[in-house]
Amino acid sequence: MDIFKQKESNVMSYAKHFPVTFTQAKGCWLYTQDETAYLDFLSGAGALNYGHNNAILKQALLDYIDKDGLTHGLDLHSEAKADFLSAMQRYILAPRQFDYKVQFTGPTGTNAVEAAMKLARKVTGRHTIVSFTNGFHGCTYGALSVTGNSHHRGGAGMDLNGVTRLPYDGYADVNGLGLFETMLADASSGLDKPAAVILETVQGEGGLNVASNSWLQRLEKLCKSNDILLIVDDIQAGCGRTGTFFSFEPADITPDIVTLSKSIGGYGLPLAIVLYKPQYDVWEPGEHNGTFRGNNHAFVTGAKALEAYWKNDEFSQHINARSEQVAKTIDQHLKNYRGLFIAHKGRGLMQGIECESGEAAERITEQCFKQGLVIETAGPEDEVIKFFCPLTISEAELAQGLSIFTRAVAHIAPKLMKKAS
Ligand SMILES: *Cc1c(COP(=O)(O)O)cnc(C)c1O
Repeated sequence: MDIFKQKESNVMSYAKHFPVTFTQAKGCWLYTQDETAYLDFLSGAGALNYGHNNAILKQALLDYIDKDGLTHGLDLHSEAKADFLSAMQRYILAPRQFDYKVQFTGPTGTNAVEAAMKLARKVTGRHTIVSFTNGFHGCTYGALSVTGNSHHRGGAGMDLNGVTRLPYDGYADVNGLGLFETMLADASSGLDKPAAVILETVQGEGGLNVASNSWLQRLEKLCKSNDILLIVDDIQAGCGRTGTFFSFEPADITPDIVTLSKSIGGYGLPLAIVLYKPQYDVWEPGEHNGTFRGNNHAFVTGAKALEAYWKNDEFSQHINARSEQVAKTIDQHLKNYRGLFIAHKGRGLMQGIECESGEAAERITEQCFKQGLVIETAGPEDEVIKFFCPLTISEAELAQGLSIFTRAVAHIAPKLMKKAS
């Protein structure tokens, strides 16, 4: 542990909440040197939807490495990339009748967001982008400009321009889209017509706020009639997290641009892509560049994940069944601990429970960790406990994790309630 204290930058964050050293991981389990097992309800913030060292993906990767398949190749055509594109087309895009081009960006989510924003500005010739309260889109300057969180924004150290912020669905009971519509129609409202709107359908870091289907449909319509591009940042909510491959499928909308990262590589390997309607593919070759556009190992495991989990709707059914298990536990706790718990947040396997304070959430997650559960918080005050297990988790493993949560709450609640009275 000392080496981390001595050498690692203070910027590290998750490890502060889980101060042990992990050595191995399998499925939804993390193991330390002394072989203590922890259930992982953090899942690499959504990069491990198929679990740690998923056996199917691991074997595909081992075979590929064994035959000396390309590891790095800039954006050269490789067999692995061809297989990944074919799998995207066959298992994801074609069945949903999405005609998207695929752009490979630098390998992290924020790279995909930067590319999406640049492209929207290039396509429309307009500058501003509309984003929403409590949205999170990454920590490079462009992505940060559309992010709400003041802690992250403060790290920029300079003005973050070119953005208009609007209230997200349900925010402060304001009719944000009504306002947007009126201001767009009023030539003197002072609102410059934006190039694009960017949003998450479920706000992963912002507290698991959910945009309703009708709100998303209205937004899509508004964008269409005003010639504004609709960007859905599906980096966290996509890849099955909410029960469908894309989070916006239940709303039956077709965004102009979609960003994906986190679990698109399948195995926890970095990969990010941007999908867009073909008419928006206006880049000059190399205009948006990067050395690591296309992690061939991630192509192999990403393609395998699509084939293994998305060729029919069995996996979706599994996710929905597990989601109900989580929902039941959350609802029980809302009933049993009024005052401590305020609201049920999120959907699919990105649900959470809002606590009366960030401190209460922290005390509970700390106690969970002591009892063998790695679980994090989200929201403006870190007041939402986020149940974020791998999607591949079994019914029994999920029940085990939820019962650790139940026990942790039973242990902590009397202390928190006493303090409050
Ligand atoms: C994680 C995340 C990002 C940023 O991805 P990085 O890989 O951390 O750069 C962007 N948007 C959303 C919705 C995210 O959850």
